Amino acid sequence: MTKVPHPSSRVLAALSTDRALGPYAAYAVGGLADLFFAPHNEGDLIEGLDWARANRLPVFMLGSGTNLLIRDGGMRGLVVYLGPLTRSWHLEVRERNPDSLVVRVPSAFSKAELLEWALDNSCAGLEFSAGIPGTLGGAVYMNAGTRWGSYASVIESVRIWVPDVGPVEKTSSEMGFKYRGHGEGSLSSGSVVLSADLRLNISSDGGESSRAIVDRILSYRGSRQALERPSCGSVFKNPENSSRGAGRLIESAALKGTRRGGAQLSTKHANFLLNRGNATAADIEELIEFTQQRVKEEFSISLEPEVIVMGEKRRLDEERYVLREASGSSF
Ligand SMILES: Cc1cc2nc3c(=O)[nH]c(=O)nc-3n(C[C@H](O)[C@H](O)[C@H](O)COP(=O)(O)OP(=O)(O)OC[C@H]3O[C@@H](n4cnc5c(N)ncnc54)[C@H](O)[C@@H]3O)c2cc1C
Repeated sequence: MTKVPHPSSRVLAALSTDRALGPYAAYAVGGLADLFFAPHNEGDLIEGLDWARANRLPVFMLGSGTNLLIRDGGMRGLVVYLGPLTRSWHLEVRERNPDSLVVRVPSAFSKAELLEWALDNSCAGLEFSAGIPGTLGGAVYMNAGTRWGSYASVIESVRIWVPDVGPVEKTSSEMGFKYRGHGEGSLSSGSVVLSADLRLNISSDGGESSRAIVDRILSYRGSRQALERPSCGSVFKNPENSSRGAGRLIESAALKGTRRGGAQLSTKHANFLLNRGNATAADIEELIEFTQQRVKEEFSISLEPEVIVMGEKRRLDEERYVLREASGSSF
């Protein structure tokens, strides 16, 4: 059976079928996306999301894939990739006071570039984020952070596109940020983070002290983390009910260096799960499950993955989308 949704020409221009997702994921694994949508501006993005809604297609937002394990069978429905939008979306300073400013950051903007902009503009508050890869959209979804802080501390509000409703602005407290996540219901299924407003402090030393902190954090991360092979950084969250972090628990269970196929728990930092070059998503998922099981047996502690596991283990049917333009200009 062949499914034939009919997009408008603008949506069609940004759509492709059967796109391999490995190149969009930090683990460098993952099957095909049935439909891959890479719009070039916000208007096309919203038109595509409306079209997906009208055709009851599940929608999945892809940031930079630095916290995603996409299974080998790939993703059904529409995978939305905002990469091309970075060319048309810019930072916008919306408020400037003697001590602070508010900057609107588009969701496809890279965290590293945002930090660099902050340092160049004598803004403090984002030092904690040094070394975290990916987009601002992924940072909002995950409340990304480090031992030095998280995005919740600088986000004032988030602009979200909600299906059937349109753009909605939520304050930081309405987002209900928590450790590596947001409050239930604050980002309903199919919602898309469009941008976030961040309040940053203006430092009197031209950003020198912030740059020194960033340099220290980067050198700490470089010396401790396993950055030589594809990974998603820490694979498990630190458990709340233990004084030991996930890495320490994995190490204490003598699992450091454990391999499953092409996947391996790093010998340098046990909470980093690496693709040694030929891993499948199944290898990675099995190693995650094995690690959880062994830590549970050893310490009665359940490790919760920080990495989001998505997609199908196998592509179950032979359905393919054939794309044809809608006959009218609207639908
Ligand atoms: C080497 C390495 C080090 C890392 N270190 C850290 C660290 O120190 N701290 C930390 O917190 N994380 C860390 N990570 C994990 C990861 O970088 C963060 O979680 C990051 O915020 C994910 O951003 P992303 O753009 O890659 O999102 P993705 O991985 O693409 O997506 C993550 C989730 O966000 C959702 N999402 C993305 N964009 C949007 C949007 N616009 N609207 C709605 N939903 C969206 C996705 O659907 C998905 O559910 C590390 C990863 C690597 C590879």
